[in-house]
Amino acid sequence: MESKMNRLENKVALITGAAKGLGEAIARGYSREGSAVVISDIDLDNLKKVEQDLSESDAGILALGLDVTQEEQWKEVINTIIERFGRLDIVVNNAGIGTHGNIETTSFDGWKKLLNINLDGVFLGTKYGVEAMAMNGNKGSIINMSSIAGIVGDPELLAYSASKGAIRLFSKSAALHLAKNKTGIRVNTIHPGYMNTDLIQLVPDPDEMLKAVPMDTFGDPDMIAQGAIYLGSDESAFTTGSELVIDGGYTAQ
Ligand code: NAD
Repeated sequence: MESKMNRLENKVALITGAAKGLGEAIARGYSREGSAVVISDIDLDNLKKVEQDLSESDAGILALGLDVTQEEQWKEVINTIIERFGRLDIVVNNAGIGTHGNIETTSFDGWKKLLNINLDGVFLGTKYGVEAMAMNGNKGSIINMSSIAGIVGDPELLAYSASKGAIRLFSKSAALHLAKNKTGIRVNTIHPGYMNTDLIQLVPDPDEMLKAVPMDTFGDPDMIAQGAIYLGSDESAFTTGSELVIDGGYTAQ
């Protein structure tokens, strides 16, 4: 896993929510594969630690504060990337939160807050990513982080499932527009199952969750990084509007 393959050589990638968890794993994977990596998050302390860890990268690493719900911050971050690297090839819209609640317990405020981060953030990241890629020969790859909860329902993840299901069809719709307009900009989703990150630690009974996973284990964040490397690289040049499920068999049942 640690050997350098350079599958992302000469690429510039922006990853949101990269201070920990899956975003951090993707940043490490991208750096290993030769991409210049811009990591962003609202958690600046952890972000700086990841930047420090990857400071030996030949292609470059840059940490930028970005709250994905803030349109002006998106504009500033994209401008900074173009100034620094001259191009943007990959955007991984990974930042997201999870909250528990069913149709009776979810408040309207809680619903709006979650959709603001998980869905509006992905809309803005895709929109401004496409704008930057349009200036770059109309080529690039946008990867939007959905979930198994974007494929099957969960009574206690009402707002989360709604956001992840919306990301799935939003991404297909954007992909179709970009393909039909003869751009080389691709949009795909990743659907992780239960992965070993802080998000999972918040769950009251992880053992109970494991019973639903045919492979009987939580996934390693690097498994999602491997999927993101494929979708970001030219190996997936004919792949758009697709959904990459990495879930230990959860949604096969
Ligand atoms: P995590 O909680 O470990 O990390 C999420 C990161 O997003 C944090 O660093 C946090 O600071 C950042 N973030 C939160 N709000 C933000 C905002 N407004 N702007 C910018 N950054 C913000 O979570 P994770 O498990 O790494 O999940 C990453 C993504 O993968 C999420 O979209 C999540 O829904 C999805 N996902 C995770 C799992 C899993 O099992 N861990 C499964 C399916 C999908």
